[in-house]
Amino acid sequence: MKKLASILLIPFLFLLSWQASAAAAVPAEAYGKPVPEKGYILDDLGDGLYWVSDGMYQVMFLTTGKGVIVVDAPPSMTHHVLAAIKEVTMNPITHVIYSHSHADHIAGAAAYPKDAKYIAHIETANRLKAKRDTPFGMFVGGGAVPAVTGTFENDYRLVVGNQVLELSYKGPSHVPGNLLIYAPKQKVLMFIDVIFPGWSPFKWLAVAEFTPSFIESHDWVLAYDFDTLISGHIGRRGSRADVVMQKQYIMDIQTNAVTSLKTVDFNAIAGEIGFANPWLLFNTYLDALADKCTKLTEDKWVTKLGGVDIFTFSHCEKVIESLRID
Ligand SMILES: [Zn+2]
Repeated sequence: MKKLASILLIPFLFLLSWQASAAAAVPAEAYGKPVPEKGYILDDLGDGLYWVSDGMYQVMFLTTGKGVIVVDAPPSMTHHVLAAIKEVTMNPITHVIYSHSHADHIAGAAAYPKDAKYIAHIETANRLKAKRDTPFGMFVGGGAVPAVTGTFENDYRLVVGNQVLELSYKGPSHVPGNLLIYAPKQKVLMFIDVIFPGWSPFKWLAVAEFTPSFIESHDWVLAYDFDTLISGHIGRRGSRADVVMQKQYIMDIQTNAVTSLKTVDFNAIAGEIGFANPWLLFNTYLDALADKCTKLTEDKWVTKLGGVDIFTFSHCEKVIESLRID
């Protein structure tokens, strides 16, 4: 009898744990390899280019024979980046590139040498100079960063020793100043906070500042001759197939956002809610639009990308708002 009770209990406990997690299963392809005990993965991508990740953030650095070029300094893992570089070379960091101005990707840069050259888009340099009431990066464990010493507007070819990096700015996509950073010899492209290999982008299209440019930027990436994409987040690198898949997901969201705008009846909602509180009316209407867009999108994608059930609603909200005003 006791045995029977415990057998009956197993599916009940399973149901409880399933309810507690309350999220769809993440496809196995979303995950990279496990992070070793030292706290970071260091992968040699060939010809002196290395990838470092703690499973949440990603950085690349290059040995040049004349010092090290490093791109970004997430404050949560800058100490790991310094340790990873020491595993490979005793040469100092001579060049630092800020991919964009967001603190979670660069606010650890004070740990890099003060006398290195700091390169970024002019818009990134301007944003870092903006007056703030709280110190830059304090909420992500970082702080003030070395000032940018080399800026440009469109393209910049960085040649150091035996390495070449082609820096290009094509538009705001995620945020004004966000760079495409291409290593032609290694066919590696770094572009941060736009593509999320294996996953739905972070909330609200990864908080993109200008949705049409975010959507267009998938084609900027695909125009490059790359084998490996370093995209800044989660524990694995991306491929062309990952970019194509995310583009299809975003295109579906756009199509379903248009359908929602054409079919959800504003007047019917106004008839129920009334106009006395216009914010209540519009909030109800916008939620109904995003809800319909989400329902039309989710089933097709939830088994293909991680987190579709978590963030599709926010992407629908963002695209619907953009279709209304941009
Ligand atoms: Zn960002």
